[in-house]
Amino acid sequence: MEKKGLLKGIRIPVPTPYPIGDIYCYLSYQPPVTLLDVGVNTPKAWDALTRGLAEVGLTPKDIEVVVLSHGHADHYGQVYRVYRESGCRVLLHPSDFSKVCDRFGYYSAMVPYLKRAGLPDGFIKVFLDVMDEETAFIEDPPKGILSPIEEGDTILWMGQELQVIHLPGHCLGHIGLVNLEEQWAFTGDVIFSSMTADPIIHIEPNGERLRAMHQHLRSLERLKEMGLEVFFPSHKEEWGMVAASVDATKRRIAYKEKMMLELIKELGRATPFEIMLAFIPEVKENHNFCFVALSDTFGRLDLLEEKGLIKCEDTGELLYYSLS
Ligand SMILES: [Zn+2]
Ligand SMILES: [Zn+2]
Repeated sequence: MEKKGLLKGIRIPVPTPYPIGDIYCYLSYQPPVTLLDVGVNTPKAWDALTRGLAEVGLTPKDIEVVVLSHGHADHYGQVYRVYRESGCRVLLHPSDFSKVCDRFGYYSAMVPYLKRAGLPDGFIKVFLDVMDEETAFIEDPPKGILSPIEEGDTILWMGQELQVIHLPGHCLGHIGLVNLEEQWAFTGDVIFSSMTADPIIHIEPNGERLRAMHQHLRSLERLKEMGLEVFFPSHKEEWGMVAASVDATKRRIAYKEKMMLELIKELGRATPFEIMLAFIPEVKENHNFCFVALSDTFGRLDLLEEKGLIKCEDTGELLYYSLS
């Protein structure tokens, strides 16, 4: 059951160069004028945002607060431009500060781990080249313009209070905004009506990889426990029946987990890269897709390892997975 009536403020579709298509930015046009996510840094995205604001008689100069749901380019790419126009406050969870302000540093620091996962140099080069290409539509903002937003904070949205909840997994610094009184939430990229969001690899400065899939499942469970009626995601349509959507998402995750276990039986001892190629063969044709595919692979491996069905061996140089 889809309940459109609950949306407060307006939804502005903004085009992105990514296969996912538009991102929805949400606008609270009552003071303080607040925008949730801003889109990528392209003329088309700027036009779309400006048109959306004009619907309610506003311009970018009128924006007082930007809340970034998380540190992915489709959500923050043109935040610095919005800031320069308006001098707005920009709020982001601190776990994503380095990802947004020092994109090259953040992603380059992952390379040693990607090598241990078995990624050949050709794939690593593509991973770094993609970052270069993205500079065409991302402008990293200086850290000084960011203010932290965290679990327990509140945002004034169309005259009502929204609670900030931390929903790590897809991104370590992902937040959601919840209207507890009316039981709806802005959920960013955590859950969608018709597809499963991907937990993305996150490597800590000490070189340790966080278990993003575990975090993601906990975040989904949390949304379910809140008893929300409707969620408004950043891509695709809003959707009711939050608990049922969470269960459907978990079923999709569990199904792929079984497929991966079968694969590891066939492969014997294999690196995460070898497992990824067998699990998602499209990567051979499309290297650009490798980072998301490897994130997906690690998510399944972590779940199987936690259940004691597979084990990970770390030789120092390479990681290998095999049946327990
Ligand atoms: Zn995202
Ligand atoms: Zn997104």
